[in-house]
Amino acid sequence: MPELPEVETIVRGLQKRIIGKTISGVEVLHPKPLGQTTPKELERFVRSQVFRKVERFGKYIHMQFASGKSLVCHLRMTGKYIYSSANVTKAEERRHIRIIFHFSDQSCLLYKDLRIFGTIKLYADGVTIAEKAKQGREPLSPALTTAYLLEKARRRQVAIKILLLDQSVIAGLGNIYVCEILFRARVSPFLSARDLSSAQAARIIEATREVIKLAIKNNGTSVSDFRNVDDKEGKFQNMLLVYQKTGAACAHCTGGIIQREKQGQRSTFFCPVCQV
Ligand SMILES: [Zn+2]
Repeated sequence: MPELPEVETIVRGLQKRIIGKTISGVEVLHPKPLGQTTPKELERFVRSQVFRKVERFGKYIHMQFASGKSLVCHLRMTGKYIYSSANVTKAEERRHIRIIFHFSDQSCLLYKDLRIFGTIKLYADGVTIAEKAKQGREPLSPALTTAYLLEKARRRQVAIKILLLDQSVIAGLGNIYVCEILFRARVSPFLSARDLSSAQAARIIEATREVIKLAIKNNGTSVSDFRNVDDKEGKFQNMLLVYQKTGAACAHCTGGIIQREKQGQRSTFFCPVCQV
């Protein structure tokens, strides 16, 4: 599932590829990502629109048109945007493509989604985005402070890992990065959020910034099927220290062996020796 660094990688790719392009038409091969919106409504909404700006907030992609209208997209499990300089017509190339935005210069933007949990929402104005209001603080924003994390942690009777996955606390983190962050911060994923010390909170924030910056620099993590806008893999999977490293020797301590345990429907990877 794409997390902040993967979505940021896609957004940067879109900024290079689609800004200034005019939509000449849209093909809806599967309507599910549109939810309540009909293919006809999408066609009417985007036809002749010019992409002006693409931004990320949390794990969302916010595509804005010069007219002020916008699209708010979430990739969920397997969604991806791939840019193509020419139309895609062969059946095998069209596999898993759900929506095609055609541009006036014959290039197009493909929305691919194997499992179709991703969403595309239409906003007539780009100001009152409901999803934006629900997001917590961004990892790289100075607004994410130790005091903020401690304040959120004190109110919750959940494990610290579950708190960090809550998008209304910190926006954009998912299972891979939270495992890596807690490992680097040497904090147990099972620690009750209420027992988080100020020193631990500070280490978590420092590790969050470090991991997210490094992952963005390496164009995200391709452990399952993540691809950028140019259909290329990220490189951060080569730098993972704990995620999917069950049985490996800990990179931080002597004698620690990475373990895997189920925690809230997801796999948690950790070192039982140095993450306390
Ligand atoms: Zn260790």
